[in-house]
Amino acid sequence: MLFKVFAKDELPKLFDLLAANPVIAPVQKGVDQHGVPLFDFDVVHDFADLRLDYTSTIHSAKRYFLPYAETLATFTVDKGGWEKQVDLNIDRRQVLFGLHACDINALNKLDKVLVQSAYPNPFYAAKRRNMFIIGLQCTPRPQCFCRSMGTDFALHGFDMFLTDLGDSYFAEILSAAAFQFMARIVTREPGHDDHERYKAVVAEKNGRFQAKVDSSDLTKILDMEFESPAWKAWGDKCLSCGTCANVCPTCYCYGVEENVDLDLTGAVKTRRLHSCNLIDFAVVAGGHNFRPHSHARLKYRYYHKHRGFVEAFEEALCVGCGRCGEACLAGITVPAVIASVREGG
Ligand code: SF4
Ligand code: SF4
Repeated sequence: MLFKVFAKDELPKLFDLLAANPVIAPVQKGVDQHGVPLFDFDVVHDFADLRLDYTSTIHSAKRYFLPYAETLATFTVDKGGWEKQVDLNIDRRQVLFGLHACDINALNKLDKVLVQSAYPNPFYAAKRRNMFIIGLQCTPRPQCFCRSMGTDFALHGFDMFLTDLGDSYFAEILSAAAFQFMARIVTREPGHDDHERYKAVVAEKNGRFQAKVDSSDLTKILDMEFESPAWKAWGDKCLSCGTCANVCPTCYCYGVEENVDLDLTGAVKTRRLHSCNLIDFAVVAGGHNFRPHSHARLKYRYYHKHRGFVEAFEEALCVGCGRCGEACLAGITVPAVIASVREGG
């Protein structure tokens, strides 16, 4: 990894260089009921619209890699068969500007399933390959527990990672493309003072974490507590709305549906992201539902993320971003659920 330092007024120049491609970045989307700014990722054309001081976004950046609905194939009677749908933007470079470490780690986890597995998703893989990612050091919110999940820093999965040192940025450069962009703005080699300032910023960030999840030996605890009353207690509160999976940067489950035109001349095959908390997630042919109760579905979600995925990849499928808990109208949060399961209900 290469390190560089550059003055803050070089950042708009870097943005303008990158803006030859579509740039996706955090922007403000109004305020909540308490007047606190809300942020989300969106396509940005002007550096002035960027909110690099954002805390978290309502949705993760997942939708730029895994759209909620994606046409896979179309069928027409004229052509006599299914025709694969090719996303014309799939090979075009895009830029994701200002992704926090938790969200970069979420993509690294998705890669394990959608790129590095026996059944890769070529749509996701192409978008991932062509996304130039600039990471950004975050300021944790009270809901963030990424430090408990080991995802508060990113070692890979980005091109460049920036830390705000006050009057300058400390840049970690990981890819050749990032190196080439950096060669076009004014940078300097970091010195001892820069290293000390970087360490001070990270130490200050680490001191801000409030939420925690005790993830030590959690897989064993989950094996022991499969019948814990905590699952029913939390599950009975669940509204089965699926919002948690919608905002989660690591949820990737989907269903494939085929819709036939009313005049029977064509059809469309669509992949649609699903949520294991939705009532029909485990319905099979014949109408049988393997998980008819909300507590069974909620339990399944936790066992996938904190038990099954750990068994397969030695890491949890949760980066501790806190989005699900914040969005849940029933007040269900990962730290609270895991704590009560640990306590045996
Ligand atoms: S957001 Fe909350 S209420 Fe909705 S499905 Fe998820 S856990 Fe249940
Ligand atoms: S489960 Fe919740 S806290 Fe964990 S990554 Fe998904 S949204 Fe974030």
